Amino acid sequence: MMPDLKQITIVSGKGGTGKTTTVASFAALGHDKVIADCDVDASNLYLLMHPEDTDSGEFTGAKVAVRDEDKCTRCGACEERCRFHAITVDEVDELACEGCGLCVVVCPVNALKLEPVVVGTWYTGTSAYGPMAHARLLPAAESSGRLVTLVRQKAEDLAYQHDLPLIIIDGPPGLGCTTTAALTDTNLAVVVTEPSLSGIHDMERQIQLIDHFGLTSAVIINKFDINQANTQHLRTWCNMRSLPILGEIPWDPQVTDALAAKKPLVEHNDGPAAQAMRAAWERTAEMIAGI
Ligand code: SF4
Ligand code: SF4
Repeated sequence: MMPDLKQITIVSGKGGTGKTTTVASFAALGHDKVIADCDVDASNLYLLMHPEDTDSGEFTGAKVAVRDEDKCTRCGACEERCRFHAITVDEVDELACEGCGLCVVVCPVNALKLEPVVVGTWYTGTSAYGPMAHARLLPAAESSGRLVTLVRQKAEDLAYQHDLPLIIIDGPPGLGCTTTAALTDTNLAVVVTEPSLSGIHDMERQIQLIDHFGLTSAVIINKFDINQANTQHLRTWCNMRSLPILGEIPWDPQVTDALAAKKPLVEHNDGPAAQAMRAAWERTAEMIAGI
């Protein structure tokens, strides 16, 4: 990593919390940055950023059995011995194959070998909001911390090439290995939450994870006005932990309108949510400058 390169990762407890709206607005408001979409399971930031991809490559996952049909005598030994019912004399089920290699060993004519399967594609390119790295998994492919790490490496390469001091990362929701990969070594982790009971619970668990990694964190409360009592609970909880609240975004139908128009909220309109998002970015920029 460049010594003066700073990275902000924005995460949420679950999808649909306003995370991508936040990332897109921050990307539109911030200067001199690279955008990294590391929400590889639901990569939809590109729909708002409209990047023009200039480079791409395959991403391979675990190894699976691959058959040379010309050598296969259809003896059935592989089908008989596979404990995962992943292979027949006709085909290999790549999703069921665990890559144990037993079929490779029992095949009498060496018709089988293990090969990594392509599970997705990474992309880098340019957008009106700055260089961008992103990725797309193939349908049914399992999400992977390795793919998140690869997207982050591509974003760092872009930052280095273009001499840009900041990466804004759209992190995956939840607490899985992809979230961990998106948070590792980041300078600031921003948790976007909503004032629902599940939102409060999810946020508390994410802050625990972020604390575990010793990262600086802050919170944005989305739709803060839909439940004032829960919002007050969030404020108190954050206050007790000296956790900055970077913004409180009101419920605003123009957020959905901006998504439908495929534009960052702050570029689509100047309604109450967009204004609150601008204020949230100013506080975020101040905070990252002081880290
Ligand atoms: S064990 Fe080998 S030869 Fe026999 S069916 Fe399987 S792939 Fe074909
Ligand atoms: S590698 Fe293992 S799991 Fe995959 S088809 Fe062969 S025996 Fe089955």
